[in-house]
Order: sequence, then C-alpha cells, then structure tokens
Amino acid sequence: MNLDTAIQYLPGVGPKRAELLEKELGIATVGDLVRLYPFRYIDRSSIVRIADVHPDLAQVQVRATVTKVRLYAKNGAELPPDKLKYNLVARLSAIVADESGEMEVVFFKGVKWMHTRLVPGSTFIFFGKPAVFNNHLNMVHPEVDAPDTSATGTLTGIYTSTERLKNGGITGRFMTKIIGTALEGILPVLQDTLPDYVLKEKGLVPLTYALRQIHFPVSQDALAKATYRLKFEELFLLQLSLLKQKYIRSSSAVGLKMPAVGEAFNACFKALPYELTGAQKRVIREIREDMRSGHQMNRLLQGDVGSGKTMVAVLSSLIAVGNGYQACIMAPTEVLAQQHFANVSKYLRPTGVRVELLTGSTGTAARRSIHAGLEDGSVGVLIGTHALIEDTVQFKALGLAVIDEQHRFGVDQRARLWSKGYNGIPPHVLVMTATPIPRTLAMTLYGDLDVSVIDEMPPGRKPITTICVGEGKRHAMHNFIRDEIAKGRQAFIVYPLIFESEKLDYKNLELGYEEIVKAFPLPQYKVAIVHGQQSNQEKDFNMSAFAAGRANILVSTTVIEVGVDVPNASVMVIESAERFGLSQLHQLRGRVGRGAERSYCILMKGTKVSKESQKRLDLLCATENGFELAEEDMKLRGPGDLEGTQQSGLPISLNIASLAKDGIILSDARGYAQHILDQDPSLSQPQNAPLAAELRKDKYVTKDYSQIS
Ligand code: ADP
Ligand code: MG
Repeated sequence: MNLDTAIQYLPGVGPKRAELLEKELGIATVGDLVRLYPFRYIDRSSIVRIADVHPDLAQVQVRATVTKVRLYAKNGAELPPDKLKYNLVARLSAIVADESGEMEVVFFKGVKWMHTRLVPGSTFIFFGKPAVFNNHLNMVHPEVDAPDTSATGTLTGIYTSTERLKNGGITGRFMTKIIGTALEGILPVLQDTLPDYVLKEKGLVPLTYALRQIHFPVSQDALAKATYRLKFEELFLLQLSLLKQKYIRSSSAVGLKMPAVGEAFNACFKALPYELTGAQKRVIREIREDMRSGHQMNRLLQGDVGSGKTMVAVLSSLIAVGNGYQACIMAPTEVLAQQHFANVSKYLRPTGVRVELLTGSTGTAARRSIHAGLEDGSVGVLIGTHALIEDTVQFKALGLAVIDEQHRFGVDQRARLWSKGYNGIPPHVLVMTATPIPRTLAMTLYGDLDVSVIDEMPPGRKPITTICVGEGKRHAMHNFIRDEIAKGRQAFIVYPLIFESEKLDYKNLELGYEEIVKAFPLPQYKVAIVHGQQSNQEKDFNMSAFAAGRANILVSTTVIEVGVDVPNASVMVIESAERFGLSQLHQLRGRVGRGAERSYCILMKGTKVSKESQKRLDLLCATENGFELAEEDMKLRGPGDLEGTQQSGLPISLNIASLAKDGIILSDARGYAQHILDQDPSLSQPQNAPLAAELRKDKYVTKDYSQIS
C-alpha cells in the first residue's frame, strides 16, 4: 500500500463505495483518506457525575446502576412486567443512579434487548445527550456499555458525512474502520513531509504520530500536538510555495531600472503642505527600492480610506519621471479621475511636470494634444479612467502604472496596461486598495506579491461618531441634518442596492428621495440624486453638483462608495444598514471625516435585524480601524466571504488550519519558510529534498501569480 493506492482496494470498500466517497468527499486514494481529519471529537475520556449533568452539555457519559425499569404501552399505560408481549411496548424507561443523583434513560426501539440487559442492580456506562423532560433529567437512546469496555476512555473522531454516504452504507463507524485500516497499511512506510531539522527546530511531532493521533487520539494532549503539527505543516508548505514563486518571479521578471530619485520628486517633496506620516515614508521607501532594483515591481498598497495613498502615488510617479519615464494613474470613475487630477496638479505645480487628464469625456482637440504629448514624452503624468488604456493611447516610455481602487478593474484591462511598457519591458505596477484585508488573508491571497500597508492616519483627523438607530429616530435624523446644513455642511444618504431585488431597491431609493425632498424643500434646500440607472453624464453632473457644494444632500446608491472626496460633507446616513457588509459600511463611512469638522455616520436599521447583522453594526459603532474590522469580519463570516476576496478566491483550500484563527501559526510558518528559502532558494540542498518533493505536488502548482489578478 502507498499513498496513491486507490481506496477501492481497501478491505470492505470496493468500487461502488469508492465511487461514492470520491463523489461526495473527493477521496480517491489512501493519501486522501488519511488526510480526511475528524471535524470534531466526542470526549469519552471522562465520566460525569449525574449531579453535574445538565441539558446544555453535549454528549456525556455517566456510570450508573439501574434501580428500576418500567414498560409503557402506546397509550401511556404501564404494562405489567409479567405476561409481557413486547409488541405492545412503546417505551422502556429505566431509572439509573450513581452516588450523586439519578436520571431516566428511555428507549423506544430495541426494547426487548434492553429489557434483558438493564437488570436492576447492574451497572453500565450510559453515553448520550442529556435532556430535561417533565422536569426530570433524561437521556434518550444512550449507548450502553459494560463499565469496563474499551469503548470508554478515549476521544472518538467524528467525520463529515452526507445523506448519500449514509444511504450508501458509509457510516461513521465504517469511516473509522477504513481509516484505521489505511493507517495500519501506510504508517510503516510513510515519509515525513517535513525534514527532521524542521521538526526539531519547531518542536513538531512526526507525521506518523500526528496522523494516528488526529484520527485516534489517546488524550487531549496528544490531539493538541497532532493538530498543531498538521496546521503548521499546512500553512508552512503553502507559504513556502508562495514565497518560492515570488522568488522566481522577482529574480526573473526584468523591470525598468530607475536609479535616481530625481529633481521632480525633491521639488514636490519640499513643497508639501504637510509632513508625511511614518507609514507613508516607509511605503515610499519600499517602492523606491523596487523601482531601482531592475526587477519589475508588482506591489499592492493597502491603506484605509483617508490614509493618504494619493501622495504615495504622486511621489512614486515622480520617481518614474525623474528617471526619464512617464507615469499614469488610473481611477475607476470619471469623478475620481477629475478629483485626482485636481489634487495631483496642485502637488505637481512646483515641479513643472506636465500632467494631463484623459477620460471618456475629453474633447477631440484636447485628446489629440494629449496623445501627441504622450508620444513625444512631454506629458509626464497622465491621469484618467480606463480610457487611458485604449489602444490609441501610446506612451513614449511608460515606467509606472498606478491603479487606484483595484477591485473595479478587470483582469484584461490590467493585461493591456502591461503591453504598454517600454521596449517590451512592462511598467512597474502599483495597485492601491482601500479595502483592508486581514493580514493572514493578504499573506495567502497575495502571498507572492509585495504588500505595503499604510497603517497610520494623517494627524489631526477628527474621529467620526457612529450611531445606530431605528425607524423611531427618523425625525430626529432629519433635524440633525438640518442643523448640520445650517452650519454650512452637507450630507450623504445612501440606500442599499442588492442585485437580486434590484427593482424593489430602486423603489426604496425613489421613495426615499421623495421623502427627503419633502422634508428638505426648495428653495431652502437642494437635493441631488445619483444611481446606477442614470447615464454617466447624468451621474457626473449630479455628483459634481454635490462635490461643488451646489446641493446640500446627495441621495444615492453605493455608486459613491469608492474614493469620492467631499471634505465639506459631515453626515453619512446609511439606510437599511443591516443589509450591507462590514467592509462596505466602513468604506461608505470613510466618505465623511475628510474635512476639519466633526463628522457623523448614522446607521438606520430596519425592524428585522439578525443577530449577525446587529453584531456588524455594533462593531462599526465601536471602531474606526478598517483592519480591525476586517479581522472581525473574517471571524464572523470566514475568509471565503470577505468582500474583495470573492473574485480572487483563495489559492488553495485549507484542510485543518484557519486563516481566521491561526494567524500566529501562519506568521511563524511564513517567517520560517522565508528563512529556509534565504539559505536555499531552489530547495536543492539534500536536507530540503522532502520539501522540494512536496512542492512538486499538483495542489502547489496551481495558478500563475506572476501578474496581479
Ligand atoms: P486615500 O488613501 O483614501 O486615497 P487621500 O490620499 O485622498 O486618502 O488623503 C486623504 C486626505 O488626507 C487628503 O485630503 C490629503 O491631502 C490628506 N493627507 C494625506 N497625507 C497627509 C499627511 N501626511 N498629513 C496630513 N494630511 C495628509
Ligand atoms: Mg484615494
């Protein structure tokens, strides 16, 4: 037997059950089988006193003596113990007692057999789920074992099952049996996946021990050691494979070499109206290192809304310009591109670098002049929407492409960017996202990319007060907005728009708009509305009206989620807040708190709010830190459902480790993997042969991560 042996050859399995196991659980080989770990364990290692048994406990076992047995008919009448006809018995009830108390055990089936076994005065181990019925403690259909049987004293693993498996005769007992058989056959010949020195340095138990104990633990302690070893192994091998791919990419991908910082950078830096935060400085240093390395940069920049990513984009662009190249900054919407253009132009004024804006609405004459400027190199920095990656846009020497708010760009759009490099060398790429991803997830999703994080806010930002209220406070909310408008501020009111019920949602939006217009009538108030069914022109017109202060209130769907900067807005009202995800709520809230004034986020919740939704809303009221929220969101929903990750998906599915819970093991494993690769990047030294062999397996040779996708 070896790991590749098909399970149908295991005694008792056969082709039919093997097919079923493959279909239902994806188990085809002995190797798959021994890696199917129990998802929970029943603890039969301790005996509970009846006085300590209560219905909240899961399954427990008691050691008790039968004191009385009664049999009942269907109509509830007690049947006399003599002259018994078992087919009349509907229920057997036995009172069992230990020195601490008594309880009832009940059987509806197998009554005859139990009646002969449960002789008053005899002692058994009863194992089952306790309950309370008519104020009495009882246990229905417990397992009954002699007090000295070997079934006690251990932890029993429980395996995933499905209806089809059960119908096909594949019970828990059957799984236990074939896994036992597989282990007997495989353990004597099993090679460890980790080298000896790794086991020793990390204090891990050997694979053979871990596999036996994960299936058939002799104690809680042995189970804990096995679990740790298997989690470490899983995370370590995954990180090792990602870091190895990263190493291969960074040592092979040729990039444009930009050795100088350049005058433009220095001129801009000197004229900055504020001091860069420590995090901004660190990130710029990281980018600068990449750009002068001669390898192509592929860096993801994460930073909460308002953390100052734009400045990083500007200074990085100027490094490219200072080395004779051009840079472009792509934004997902026209409004954002305009905003970037306004900001960037301001920053670039002291440098004399020519910056242009190219979007779908750029006129023909202007477009012609920009195209010419890009081709002759006189335009240093180009800002725009995806219009700037059209084929007609040709750069003289594109050295850096910055993509703002990454998740709005398609993969093919990014691929087009790559082809716009210089002399066949792709530009450096910096992707910026304000969707914080928990660290453990980033290490896995983008494990082979370079990730920079701005984890510090510019000083002087006023905190945003977040409150969550119900329908009863709608009037108060309107009054509050009136007060803020009287102080010269503006307010956002956002409605959810969720795909499945789009029609209904638009109705809500329209009704909401009517209500607001009534509550905030002309000429005193002006209300603008923006939603996805408007034409781009209409959207931009209304959005710009609000941005320029011509409207006091903007009613909208989540189209305003990304990036829009209206520093004068001080109120964000989110309608039906319970319907939004945590990170989306956080993004929306980030639209306010950008000016000097105190800002407020009001979460309006509906009448039916699930426990989980309420938890989200409470979290949001409790913290403004996007990374903290992302961590909590992952704990609430698991890593697969996090916003910003669905489309990319996890590169590999984890079997035993959890990104939400095992962050410490993950960091340790990643650091250790890096340490090994630093010494032996190709894993060709003899002591690393087991690792090299592992990484050749299919699951590690999955996608090509050489491009951000
Ligand atoms: P985001 O990361 O959301 O794109 P921005 O780049 O739009 O954030 O910056 C948010 C605001 O903070 C802008 O008004 C910007 O001028 C300001 N800002 C950026 N960096 C600093 C800094 N180091 N000190 C003070 N203000 C800063
Ligand atoms: Mg931004």
